[in-house]
Amino acid sequence: MNSTNIAKPLVENAVWQPEELLERPALEILQTQRLRALVERLGKRVPFYRDAFARLGISADDIRSIDDIRRLPFTTKSDLRENYPLGFMAVPREDVVRFHGSSGTTGRPTFVGYTRADLDLWANLCARFLYAGGLRKWHTAQVSFGYGLFTGGFGLHQGIERIGASVVPASSGNTARQLILLQDLAVEYLICTPSYALHLIEGIHSGTLDRNSLSLKGMFLGSEPWTEDMRQRIENDLGVYVENNYGLSEVMGPGVSGECAYRTGMHVQEDHFIVECIDPETLEPVADGEEGELVFTSLSREAFPLIRYRTRDIASLTRKPCPCGRHTARMGRIAGRSDDMLIIRGVNVFPSQIEEALLRVKATAPHYMIEVDRPRTLDEVTVRVELQPAMFSDSMAELSRIRDQISASIHSVTGLNMKVELVPPNTLTRFEGKSKRVTDHRILQQG
Ligand code: ADP
Ligand code: ZN
Repeated sequence: MNSTNIAKPLVENAVWQPEELLERPALEILQTQRLRALVERLGKRVPFYRDAFARLGISADDIRSIDDIRRLPFTTKSDLRENYPLGFMAVPREDVVRFHGSSGTTGRPTFVGYTRADLDLWANLCARFLYAGGLRKWHTAQVSFGYGLFTGGFGLHQGIERIGASVVPASSGNTARQLILLQDLAVEYLICTPSYALHLIEGIHSGTLDRNSLSLKGMFLGSEPWTEDMRQRIENDLGVYVENNYGLSEVMGPGVSGECAYRTGMHVQEDHFIVECIDPETLEPVADGEEGELVFTSLSREAFPLIRYRTRDIASLTRKPCPCGRHTARMGRIAGRSDDMLIIRGVNVFPSQIEEALLRVKATAPHYMIEVDRPRTLDEVTVRVELQPAMFSDSMAELSRIRDQISASIHSVTGLNMKVELVPPNTLTRFEGKSKRVTDHRILQQG
């Protein structure tokens, strides 16, 4: 879905590294070689894999084609927790030059390490999607992801430096200062979560800053589920070009996949990662185009490579050709994590579906919260949503019409009736990092 009137990146077929254009047969030969070497390495260095390979009677010699990956064991988040903190480390401690950790969205953080070569690879992987999205050495890019254990800040920072563009390491928080930096340093690209982008946009509109005084032309957003409708809202609001990118610390950090200028899904950097999409119940592969759980094998990472890591992220894959010339598999948007999926009266719903339904109604602002409860025997969902300031009127009839429209939209996307509460502009929580829009009282009651 492309918005009109948005300036697209100048070079549509931009590639940062020639390997990005490998055709599938060559790519699969490379993947198979790297997988065999990985099995050899991990069988010697990581007790979890040594034991698993022994149990399955597998060695590196059994990896003859890419399909042999299905003979290898899965790795789960609980395997990482059981081997906490550093049981999966595959190099001597002295070779590790940095640690990061997952942001702990779903429990205790997990730590991951990087060697010097890992950091070098990671910088190039981030540079690939930044370059494809239009970033060049003469640009300035502001990173408004938190700098710390979270991989977002440092990951993108290195990618920008690798391209040779100027980086403004703003980190997250202090919105007023963020806006001054954007303006005074003539920043062209902004990098953050979609929810923080919304927050900054509000700051821009709050009157202290003139949009025309900004040089902003693009945003690279990621690190949390968001919808195509949200992208459209942001693009139309600021007249900038917005791209999606994906990653997770267990697999590398940002740079696992990202969009090219054609935005036909996020290209998985398959020369360094093998991606699979499985049915989370049967663990069998699902067909291209069907949603399933994404599973990644990090082929080249030295300090902390994982085999068949189950991400719990739900999305579909396609291998149809992309006009940009890359032959890599592309991921659709992440519908959500299997952990975030709500089961409402037996129906599976992702918060991203509710976002999609809300944003289809023009009067809504892109700020909402979802509350789930079970007052007696039935689940009830309350969706609180802000209206665009111009649409928030005193007329009860008008408000009730908008509410009905939203309820109908939610019903048509999810098949469920939810209670809708319209709240005045600027009253719901704003997020500086990953958003937390769902409160599930049913879990709180049990836990
Ligand atoms: P965690 O959130 O598990 O503590 P990370 O900071 O490594 O750890 O975040 C990785 C997760 O963020 C992914 O597994 C995915 O759920 C989410 N994520 C990252 N990028 C995107 C994106 N572009 N769209 C949707 N979700 C994303
Ligand atoms: Zn492409």
